[in-house]
Amino acid sequence: MRQSKYFLKTSKTTPADDLSVNAKLLEQGGFVQKVLAGVYDFLPLGLRVLQKIENIVRGEMDKIGNEMFMPVLHPKENWEKTGRWSSLDVLFKIKSQHGNEYALGPTHEEIVTPAAQAIISSYKDLPMAVYQIQTKFRDEPRAKSGLLRGREFRMKDLYSFHATAEDLEEYYNQKAMPAYGAVYKSLGLNAILTEASGGTFAKYSHEYQVETENGEDTIYVCEKCGLAKNKEIFSPTAPLPFAEASGDTPPQAGGEAPQCTNCGKTTWRETKGAEVGNIFKLQDKYSKAFNLQYTAQDGSKKIVLMGCYGLGTTRVMGVIVEKFHDDKGIIWPEAVAPFKVHLLALKGGEEKAGEIYQALLKAGVEVLYDDRDTSPGTKFADSDLIGIPYRVVVSAKTVEKESVEVKKRESDKAELVSFDKLTSVLNQK
Ligand code: ATP
Ligand code: MG
Repeated sequence: MRQSKYFLKTSKTTPADDLSVNAKLLEQGGFVQKVLAGVYDFLPLGLRVLQKIENIVRGEMDKIGNEMFMPVLHPKENWEKTGRWSSLDVLFKIKSQHGNEYALGPTHEEIVTPAAQAIISSYKDLPMAVYQIQTKFRDEPRAKSGLLRGREFRMKDLYSFHATAEDLEEYYNQKAMPAYGAVYKSLGLNAILTEASGGTFAKYSHEYQVETENGEDTIYVCEKCGLAKNKEIFSPTAPLPFAEASGDTPPQAGGEAPQCTNCGKTTWRETKGAEVGNIFKLQDKYSKAFNLQYTAQDGSKKIVLMGCYGLGTTRVMGVIVEKFHDDKGIIWPEAVAPFKVHLLALKGGEEKAGEIYQALLKAGVEVLYDDRDTSPGTKFADSDLIGIPYRVVVSAKTVEKESVEVKKRESDKAELVSFDKLTSVLNQK
């Protein structure tokens, strides 16, 4: 991609109303543009990152379910059936010119459950799982921290359908959890498995939390095995079993600290997390509301059990920036970087850079080519801000040596690589 022709402009001004690192760097780097609080344009550069994230998610979800695509506009009656038309505070409700009311989908149990009715009738049809990657709408009271909490955001949501509680349990533990683990690993994120409130229908749900200062959740991580608990589970239904911890002080037993459900230890460390995923055993909550039944082997009618599995793809993008940056800009992990190579043409290197650009394209290397007529200082600063993993500089000086200068974004050292070796060197990296 030629930068001179790309729908991209970096900026020096920082967002006035959002101090988070991801909002600052993503807006300055030309990845996103704020339209209104919690609503962003994804510019071409940002869309490339989001698509890479979503394709990593898709790759793992395809192993455990089938992709489908549900609407954003939902009939009111479906939401009334589950009681959530009035109980879900973040539900966006709209009225048409004909007086009909609709919800803008914040999640899709109300759509996927009736959809499954047409597919599932016998025990032979179970288990089954579908997912989508969709834009969600939530009337969040406070949209904040860039992509971390939006009013319009992207989510992968998967729903599974089962004949028995054991089958749901097995899918949840043996399929969903490993798939989630694989997604975060590919994204380069250390997502901490965290027990959280299961609502009224399960003892726990599980969240995946990434430790970061801008995270909204307080979690306690077991010092021994690494399993965490969300502070929210303990309140307001039950008082926090240990005294409020602050800073580096681990939660102390007011009386006694709770035992870790995994290893039994009682030593915890308090930290801040951003929830990048949340998986739930819904049991029969939604299947009951829509009377989603199947015929069991003995001919009797039974209610289908469900699980739901969410993963916020735009929030993940924000979290990656919170984790991977320095004072000059973003440092994208290669798996989600918008391009692999940022090719910079400096004075005297323009012609050769053009040739190298063509050669890299031909070799299938994703390259952003800074062919703009601007100063080296601007090009270097923009390159650091945008954070593409490899910077390749072609200047009069390097051309003299029949080579280019290659530097990893996070490194201080550049290496000279000869013209004829460049493609193979980059492909090996
Ligand atoms: P939170 O506790 O952060 O409000 P939630 O528990 O309501 O989120 P779910 O309904 O489980 O979230 O949604 C699944 C995933 O979608 C979350 O784990 C998160 O990654 C993402 N997500 C939820 N709300 C938002 C939002 N307002 N903006 C961006 N991502 C979100
Ligand atoms: Mg949550």
